[in-house]
Amino acid sequence: MEKIVTRFAPSPTGTLHLGGARTALFNFLFSRHHQGKFILRIEDTDRTRSTDEYIQDILEALTWLGIQWDEGLYYQSQRMELYHQNVERLLSEGKAYRCYCTTEELEARRQIALERKENTRYDGHCRDRQDRPDLPYVVRFRTPQSGSISFTDLIHGPITFVNSELDDLVIIRADKTPTYNFSVVIDDVDMGITHVIRGDDHINNTPRQVLIYQALGFSPPLFAHLPMIHGADRTKLSKRHGATAVIEYRKDGYLPQAMVNYLARLGWGFGDQEIFSPDDLIGKFDLKDVSKSAAIFNPEKLVWLNHQYLMKESNEGLIELARPFLDPAAGKLPGESLLKVAEIFKPRARTLVEFNEQSRFLFLDTVETDPEAAQKFFTPDVKNLFYELIRKLKEVPAWKEKEIEDVFRNIVQARGIKMAKIAQAVRVALTGKTVSPGLFEIMGILGQGKTLQRIESALDKIPSAPPSPSEGGALGRG
Ligand code: GLU
Repeated sequence: MEKIVTRFAPSPTGTLHLGGARTALFNFLFSRHHQGKFILRIEDTDRTRSTDEYIQDILEALTWLGIQWDEGLYYQSQRMELYHQNVERLLSEGKAYRCYCTTEELEARRQIALERKENTRYDGHCRDRQDRPDLPYVVRFRTPQSGSISFTDLIHGPITFVNSELDDLVIIRADKTPTYNFSVVIDDVDMGITHVIRGDDHINNTPRQVLIYQALGFSPPLFAHLPMIHGADRTKLSKRHGATAVIEYRKDGYLPQAMVNYLARLGWGFGDQEIFSPDDLIGKFDLKDVSKSAAIFNPEKLVWLNHQYLMKESNEGLIELARPFLDPAAGKLPGESLLKVAEIFKPRARTLVEFNEQSRFLFLDTVETDPEAAQKFFTPDVKNLFYELIRKLKEVPAWKEKEIEDVFRNIVQARGIKMAKIAQAVRVALTGKTVSPGLFEIMGILGQGKTLQRIESALDKIPSAPPSPSEGGALGRG
């Protein structure tokens, strides 16, 4: 069988969004599945809208996701010669023509057509023009005015367009740069692309491209148009539905494996399997399992997947991944304690950002106390408890969870109070919050010095009991 060659061909006119990443991934998976080749090509012929920053963003996002290209990077802006050779050929064969209509002229004629309720596509004004005035011009493709054009989409099946509905599209702009529909054809031929896999939004471009293939005498590749990605409200995915730029997800503490797994499931599935390693995806991916209808982006599912991937990490692995997110103070913690942090928070944190948010109280010099928690649990009667606790914790022979727990149990027993009474107040003192992982584990990680220091500073936040009538106050004493 012929070797399969796919490509991802982004225009660097924006950051790489989820839809683009999904397109890149499907091209990558399809070529890997068939031991083919995957090419990366930057479609930057629109010089006014393409930027180097967007190119860098695209490369960074693909690299982060592990979508490796086998060939390229190609830049269309460096391949102008090739496009011009082909345009010259179309011009000399009468399959394209120079159009000298100015923007103002086109607009004026468009308005007239609108008023007459006629079709507003290019009216063929320069189609049969023989002269070559010394004026700026664009090159238009001479679209056949009759007949129709068909192709079989690997996902949607046969698709037909009537030629008379199609415009004489501009293939070379006045600044001599080629337009997308033209350069894409030349490059897909030149690079030997066998399968063009791209978003549904290009379906309308495909007949135009097929006509250009025919005019140049090339046989078109196979086409597969991927379903759009919608938000839960079934409208096109946009900022309203959550972050759309891939790199945002890295910043938000998602793992690339989780992203890849999630993107793969946007419009593709394999039974009811949810978790796929990259190799598993390569093994199972096939275009025949891609759905025709729009995929729905579900951020809850993505975060769930991310949690699954975080849980798979070893404690060492998790710390390494989390390091860029952790408070710099975490660096001061002994390695062993950091591993314990990973173990405790792994089941709780769904993203690396959450991991940092949940664990950062351990590393900071001062506790950020939630005022409501303080008001509820720092009651005057806690003061005495804390004094006793401080005394006893200072005497603990070895700072081990078990020994610490014994101190608490003894106090509770001797005073006949509930464990919760003291535990909740200590929790607020140590973490600033009312919810946290196990108290003794936390104290183990904090170490004796920091634990005592936090309980001591909490004393200042505990109000004293109002004096009782018998003992206090000027009148009482009088
Ligand atoms: N440059 C086009 C885009 O970013 C590529 C479309 C295609 O794959 O043909 O949408």
